[in-house]
Amino acid sequence: MPWFKRAEKGIHTPTEQKKETPDGLWYKCPDCKTVTSMAEHRKNLSTCVKCDFHDRIGSKEYFAILFDDNKFTELDENLTSGDPLNFVDSKPYPQRIAATQKATGLKDAVRSAYGKINGQNITIACMDFAFIGGSMGSVVGEKIARAIDHARKTRTPFMMISKSGGARMMEAGFSLMQMAKTSAKLALLSEEGLPYVSLLTDPTTGGVTASYAMLGDFNIAEPGALIGFAGPRVIKETIGKDLPKGFQSAEFVLEHGFLDFIVDRKQLKQKLTDLLSMIVSEEAFAKPKAKATKVSKAS
Ligand SMILES: [Zn+2]
Repeated sequence: MPWFKRAEKGIHTPTEQKKETPDGLWYKCPDCKTVTSMAEHRKNLSTCVKCDFHDRIGSKEYFAILFDDNKFTELDENLTSGDPLNFVDSKPYPQRIAATQKATGLKDAVRSAYGKINGQNITIACMDFAFIGGSMGSVVGEKIARAIDHARKTRTPFMMISKSGGARMMEAGFSLMQMAKTSAKLALLSEEGLPYVSLLTDPTTGGVTASYAMLGDFNIAEPGALIGFAGPRVIKETIGKDLPKGFQSAEFVLEHGFLDFIVDRKQLKQKLTDLLSMIVSEEAFAKPKAKATKVSKAS
């Protein structure tokens, strides 16, 4: 005789009494398939509790992780994109911008802010992949350039958190100009003796890798992040050879000398604080470095 016997037959629960699990309550790791509650996943800074897979997060989350008590002042909050080329693909560019702004609550693919990290002043610009693939258009370039200017003016270290598919095709040549503009501003930052830390997160590709993301005094990355210029398929077709295992992963890029170190998101704030405290002396930030003496023109 079975230990469990259904006493009543034909039990029906009316639809309104059925209990439903709300969406977004659970998180399933795409790597090891472990299921955890969303609350636990967020508490673990959106990294897998079992295999440490780093889930993609945006500027809101990075600012909350880095700035003390999530307190910061945002720069150029309302800068939005124009349509210099009257670009139309499946829909006109201004419509695409408006729809993305509505869906994401973001104004463009980067946000910049200043505040304190463990008591140390810092200016941070962080990209959002949710906004047209974190593509770099004029607004992204301009906001980064202005954030660098802010770091120079206030003599604070600058940090860039990159997450991008590359240049924004709807702005074509105007996107490409952002590479030169941001690189030139970073050169000024460097000349003035201010440190620049570049954090590359999944994915950092295209024109972003080819400009500001790789120009850090320290180029650091999150574990497992895809870092490259062209995608693996394009490279494979070009060279006509199979690519090595783990090609373009942060670990591969580190091994080949393009990164300084890989940092777990849960240790990011402390590592950054340690790094800055090592390279930042009070004196260096008190006054601008003396300008190099100009060499007089040879007669
Ligand atoms: Zn996992």
